Amino acid sequence: MKEFASSSPSIGSATGVTLSGNPAVLNAEEYGSAPSSQGRTGFPKASGQSLSYWLQQVRSDPLLDHRTTEQLPEQADTVIVGSGISGTLIAKHHLETWPERSVVVLEAREFCSGATGRNAGHCKPDQWRHFAKFEKAYGHEQAIQIMNNEAATWRALVSYVKENNVDCDLWVGDTYDVPLDDDVAKIAKECFERYRDLGGKVDHIKVTHDPVKAARISRIKNAKACYSWNASTLQPWKLTAHIMRENLKNGVNLQTYTLAKSIAADSSGSRKWLVNTDRGDVACDTVVHATNAYSAALEPSLKGVITPKPHICNKVVPPRAMSGSKAIQNSYGVLLPDGGLFSINPRCTADGVVMFGGSNSGQKQLDRWVEDHPEHCINDGLARIESITECVREFVENNLEGWKEAEIGPGEGFDYSWSGIIGLSADGVPFVGELPGKPGQFICAGHHGHGMARIFTAAPGLVKVMNGEPWEETGLPEVYKMTPERLKRLRSATEEAPKVAIV
Ligand SMILES: Cc1cc2nc3c(=O)[nH]c(=O)nc-3n(C[C@H](O)[C@H](O)[C@H](O)COP(=O)(O)OP(=O)(O)OC[C@H]3O[C@@H](n4cnc5c(N)ncnc54)[C@H](O)[C@@H]3O)c2cc1C
Repeated sequence: MKEFASSSPSIGSATGVTLSGNPAVLNAEEYGSAPSSQGRTGFPKASGQSLSYWLQQVRSDPLLDHRTTEQLPEQADTVIVGSGISGTLIAKHHLETWPERSVVVLEAREFCSGATGRNAGHCKPDQWRHFAKFEKAYGHEQAIQIMNNEAATWRALVSYVKENNVDCDLWVGDTYDVPLDDDVAKIAKECFERYRDLGGKVDHIKVTHDPVKAARISRIKNAKACYSWNASTLQPWKLTAHIMRENLKNGVNLQTYTLAKSIAADSSGSRKWLVNTDRGDVACDTVVHATNAYSAALEPSLKGVITPKPHICNKVVPPRAMSGSKAIQNSYGVLLPDGGLFSINPRCTADGVVMFGGSNSGQKQLDRWVEDHPEHCINDGLARIESITECVREFVENNLEGWKEAEIGPGEGFDYSWSGIIGLSADGVPFVGELPGKPGQFICAGHHGHGMARIFTAAPGLVKVMNGEPWEETGLPEVYKMTPERLKRLRSATEEAPKVAIV
């Protein structure tokens, strides 16, 4: 661990992410992974999606409705369902591993129009914050592995973008985690120090517990502490599109606007599986479910195991008083007293527009509404949800110097918000591996609001599993592995699964 300047005082051992007699929670809410209507699921919404800022930027890109062949192929060695960052990266590693095998990618709507094309554009490796939660659920060695895997994922993503000159507005710089009150700061400090004391790597993290210094460094008035390490922001659709274009050059057949409706054994015996779509059947030997939030609609054994939830991202054009040399230059996780979070991506290398994601109290209100209206669990047609925007407005006015007084002219300010669908995993970590009882069907899904810090290693990891390599070769934490035991445990109503939410 590095200090911003002078050293911090030491503190006693941590007990977790809540402390007795302390009402605060460190951003790790149970509710996120335990919706009461757990059986809810659905296929991607067929029409009426709101357009994210990323999708608005690429309206003339022919990849959006690309079909490599006019007709849906009748056969392929492998069918990958889903063209988000998971499906697209799995196709890439599949081609590298088996260049001779044919691959069809099915996408229900426009290319990459699921969570990847609608997220907040932050690739922020968790480097300590959820350690205590993961430790409680899985023990400290797995929890440390999860933190290490997130760092490795971020490095892999940045290397790929740099080595391939990908035009995706990549920013690499200091991200700040900033607790906004004393109670959260105390829990955060205990969590961080417990992680360090149990062998977690912290030498790349700069910390100050001095509120004055934290406010100066972070520019957040009510900061009580500041933790800083390297992270990235990017335009996620453009990154995914770059990888898919390479895949197409290497022989992938992409079929957009093609919904996979069910999968059955191929009774003709020519192949193992028959993927039934709204445009006909594709027979294949291998199926990959890269369907994230929608996984249980296609694979019913995942009902209650992967649950969809709409999540909102706000786009804000900073006022002139907060632009130019005064523009925000870092990304953030702002830790709120009620366990909520603002995830902030200011697009420093691009247009300076600021994205606000995370789980503020307005988002919680939306979550409760979806509990009562489960038919909206896959509604990515939501836009301009005022209760959530209001929380962001209140935060910036109270915390960012100059914002409250700033004149907001036409074209500035709170511009737009949209929804995307998060895939909650019932035990808080993704599923990577073969589907139990379905030889030749594989899955990489359940990434919560955090897939950008997981999938760049989860996707190649899955391809290694498909290649018969031992799990250790994937480099992924053991708890990410899809196993019959894990699925059975999570499906069992009597056995309580450990719940860890990352939103
Ligand atoms: C508002 C919001 C903000 C977020 N912010 C961040 C962030 O800042 N940082 C971060 O790390 N993560 C964030 N996330 C989460 C992140 O976007 C996801 O974890 C990640 O994109 C998941 O990628 P994926 O490829 O697995 O899923 P997706 O991108 O959802 O791709 C799945 C695709 O499968 C298609 N599909 C599904 N079922 C079928 C079917 N039956 N037939 C055909 N096609 C099908 C879908 O249409 C979709 O395109 C956010 C998510 C949301 C919604």
